[in-house]
Amino acid sequence: MTESIIEIKHLKKSFGDNEVLKDIDFAVKKGEVVSIIGSSGSGKSTLLRCINLLETPTSGEIYYKGENVLAKGYSLTKYRTHLGMVFQSFNLFNNLNVLENCTTGQTTVLKRDNAEAKKVALANLEKVGMASFQNAMPAQLSGGQKQRVALARALSMNPDVMLFDEPTSALDPEMVGEVLKAMKDLAHTGLTMVIVTHEMAFARDVSDRVIFMDKGVIAEEGTPEEIFGHPKEARTKEFLSRVL
Ligand code: ADP
Ligand code: MG
Repeated sequence: MTESIIEIKHLKKSFGDNEVLKDIDFAVKKGEVVSIIGSSGSGKSTLLRCINLLETPTSGEIYYKGENVLAKGYSLTKYRTHLGMVFQSFNLFNNLNVLENCTTGQTTVLKRDNAEAKKVALANLEKVGMASFQNAMPAQLSGGQKQRVALARALSMNPDVMLFDEPTSALDPEMVGEVLKAMKDLAHTGLTMVIVTHEMAFARDVSDRVIFMDKGVIAEEGTPEEIFGHPKEARTKEFLSRVL
């Protein structure tokens, strides 16, 4: 059995009295593509934000390659460099061009020299079909193009795991396809991916495993065929009947 890259045990997260994550156990293995689906407010974003420690869990454990990342002395800065994240909103640096957006983290955080950073950035921009826009400024790009640059920028840090939080939900409908295609191509390269999405056809198509979250718990998980074809839980069926 392949070892988990990320393993989460008994994760709880509350905001005040609101317990948003209730004892979540979750693991991702190398090369696995896991989609997380569920209604708005079910805790999907909070789970992703706890995984990369943008939120501090109220309790529970998070292991990265077997090491407890919440232990005293563990380098969170280092941990975060292993995780790439693409959000719903396009969070490019608007004062930097496309290429610079993809090199700046490499030179500052990973201490790569400019030539190396540029080479890596261009290779990743190529992967998402944005190399010809290397000198463009973000303001000149469509939403779909910006999101593909955000993807290339995250990839340029050579993350072990990519986390996506509804990367297409802020896009005009005609741009959703190009971003999903770039993500699908990536999934086929063996990259480990955790994807919160409301694109059910995409989740069914690319995932090794699908997780259905409901009110802060993992209500059901399985293969795409199990979740979409033969859901067991009443609440999974009810959710799917609303979104499919
Ligand atoms: P989802 O991504 O599934 O829509 P979220 O994880 O964003 O769900 O939110 C789950 C619940 O946590 C919601 O009730 C939301 O209001 C609450 N929540 C999320 N982030 C915060 C925060 N920073 N402060 C207070 N409540 C929050
Ligand atoms: Mg969310």
